[in-house]
This record gives sequence, C-alpha cells and structure tokens, in this order.
Amino acid sequence: MMLKIKRVPTLVSNFQKEEAEETLARGAGCGRNCLRNCCLPGSKLPLYASKNLRKGKSVAYETKEPPVDFLESLLLGEWEDRQQKGLFRYDVTACETKVIPGDYGFIAQLNEGRHLKKRPTEFRVDKVLQPFDGSKFNFTKVGQEELLFQFEASEDNEVQFFPNAPIDAEKSPSVVAINVSPIEYGHVLLIPKVLECLPQRIDRDSLLLALQMAAEAANPYFRLGYNSLGAFATINHLHFQAYYLAVPFPMEKAPTRKITFADAGVKISEMLNYPVRGLVFEGGNTLEDLANVVSGSCVCLQENNIPYNVLISDSAKRVFLLPQCYAEKQALGEVSSELLDTQVNPAVWEISGHMVLKRKEDYEGATEANAWRLLAEVSLSEARFQEVTALIFEAIDLNAEENENATEGSPEKPDVAPQPMEEIDALNTHASMVPV
Ligand SMILES: [Zn+2]
Repeated sequence: MMLKIKRVPTLVSNFQKEEAEETLARGAGCGRNCLRNCCLPGSKLPLYASKNLRKGKSVAYETKEPPVDFLESLLLGEWEDRQQKGLFRYDVTACETKVIPGDYGFIAQLNEGRHLKKRPTEFRVDKVLQPFDGSKFNFTKVGQEELLFQFEASEDNEVQFFPNAPIDAEKSPSVVAINVSPIEYGHVLLIPKVLECLPQRIDRDSLLLALQMAAEAANPYFRLGYNSLGAFATINHLHFQAYYLAVPFPMEKAPTRKITFADAGVKISEMLNYPVRGLVFEGGNTLEDLANVVSGSCVCLQENNIPYNVLISDSAKRVFLLPQCYAEKQALGEVSSELLDTQVNPAVWEISGHMVLKRKEDYEGATEANAWRLLAEVSLSEARFQEVTALIFEAIDLNAEENENATEGSPEKPDVAPQPMEEIDALNTHASMVPV
C-alpha cells in the first residue's frame, strides 16, 4: 500500500512556483540565472571557509568569545539584502509571535501567508528514502539571487572569506540560500554539495557540515534542523534549514536521562517529560565523533524506513533525534479532524516547540495543552520508541543493557518542573504503525 497525504507544500524558493510555467527568455542561459549548465558558467558567489573543526574540539568556544561574528553578519547582511530586493513571499518580521504561558514556554507564531496560493500536492509519505528526481523542483533550479554564499570547512584552522569566488561545478559547493517562506529572521537553507543532486538523506559528511556551520555560528540561538521525507520535508534534495530565534526552545529545556556512552565519549540520553520522545547526543572528543554517532543513527532510521527530524542545538554541542509517525497516522486517517483543521505540519521547528500556526483562532487560543496534544500525536509510543532505540544502538554497535547500571547509578536531575507522566501516556495511546 502506498500512503499519501494531500497538503499545500510550503514554497522554499521563488522558482518552485514557476515550474512548468513559461520560461523568461532574456539574457544568457535559461533566463532564470539558475545553477544548471545553462546559467552556471562564470558565476560567482561569496565563499566562507570556516575553521576546520573536523579534528578540533567541539567545545572550541567555551573558553573564549569568538573574535568577530563574521559568519553571522555575513548571513544576516545577505539575508536582509534579499529582503530589500523583495525575494521573500511575505514579511516574516511582521508576523505576530508570542510565548505561550506555561512551564515550557512554547512559542506561537501566526503565519497566514506561508501556505497560500498553491494547490495541494500529493506527497508520498511512506518512504523515507526516495531517489532524486531531476524533473521535480530542486535547488539547482533556484535563481542565483536566492543564494547567499558558499560554505565549507577550510583546509586549516583559519577562517577564510572570498567575496567573489567562482562557483566551481567540479567541486559542487555547499551553499546557503534563503528560504523564501521564512518562519523567522535569517531563515536559510544549507544545501550540501548542491550540484551533486543528492536526495534528502543524511550521511556522515552532510551531518558534519551542518555541525560545522552550527559550531562556526557560535550562537545558541542559531539552530539547524532537518526533516526526513515522511517527516515533513517537502523537497527531495538534501538540505538543512536554519534560523535565529532568541529564546530557548521548549525541547532544549526538557529534562534528559543518560542512557549510555557511544564511541569517543558521545553521550546519548533520552528526553523526559516532553510530548515527543527523542534521543539527545552530546560531547565526543571532536565534532567528527559526534557526527559519526548521530549520522549512524540517522542512517539506521532511514534504512528502517522510520521518518525522523533532527535539531542541532547549542552551537553543535547537542543534537536531538526524533523519530516520528504523524504523517503516517495522517495518511491512515488516525489524526483527529480538530488537529488536521489547524493544518499545522509538525516538522522539526514545531517539534522543538516553535509552533507556526496558520489560523488566527489557533494563534489566539494557543495553550500549552494544545501544543502538547498536537506534539503527542507526532511521537512514537513508549514501546515503539524503545524498539527504535534498540535498533539504533544495534546499528551503531552499542549494547544498552551493558550500560544500564550507569543509567541507574546516575540519574540526571530534571531541570524543569516535570509534567505528570500520565498525561503523556493518555495522549499517546496510538501504537506506531511503522513496520520494523
Ligand atoms: Zn538556467
């Protein structure tokens, strides 16, 4: 059986909506100034080469302040320039936002413009891995004016910046582009090896690149997120999202309990008292160690066809991994019409506690209980979550039982008032339908 859901996709590029519409034949190339062979030759784009943290400590900034926040000023400067040029579909800075009263501080945003003017499209939601399809929208079709800069780890430990670097097709650079449907200030896309046309799937190199960007940004309010297919990614071309939001996310405040240590001292915990069950990875001797363990876990989920979301927090010091089953329940008709009517797509930002709401009544009536109820539908059941965790540990060659004593011996103290567990269980009686 093929599971599909109909929904209105969010445009992430202005060239997505013009697909199959007339081509503007002016100037050289196809007229769109795109990234394909028609327009690429001779193109230039700023290149930011970060310190290479591959071998370095992932906690490089703990002892001293970064010298100048060059990456941040580059990113936001270029982003504002594109805003001035009118490349965004709406003015996100005019969207109302509030913190919902309660223990967790869920953040609600009213964003009525994000899903308008687009016919619903059918998304196949039951396959986490799907081959790249060049006939569909992908980031080689965006206009170069939507690109902000090339991003890479430099060969040495020095930051390097080239304001006018050629886009080297042979090298297939990783690029940072605007999301034309931003949900916050500075909302961008990180597209690893854009010209290689990789499908939406995490591997070690792409995750390491995302961690390097988070570490380089060195601002805890700059997070990167990832949605797999089946977990509300809308474009099957490898990309991460990122933006600035100057409050802690509720998920970042959730208490955790250590389960075990993986290779090179990467600590793996589970979240407690949060509506979506998930694993938290932190530490390791190097950023590469953390990338290895997290990407190994993501690959396991992909290979087992389990949709998931990832949040990279605290300048790459912590990574949240959240297997989810909302789209599947939706396709099977198991989500209440009350929740469906809100048209909220619980992707990584919503799961983290930043709720992007499309209807004024949902915004005005937003409560912690409502946010909790939605997110509880996203989560795997406790039993399924434990199964999936065991699958992951097997894949990354860990035996959780060996480490059980460590868990019992040193329970971590929750740092926020816990919600009663009965509430979580009551809201989460659905058994996951994802096949093992
Ligand atoms: Zn072109």
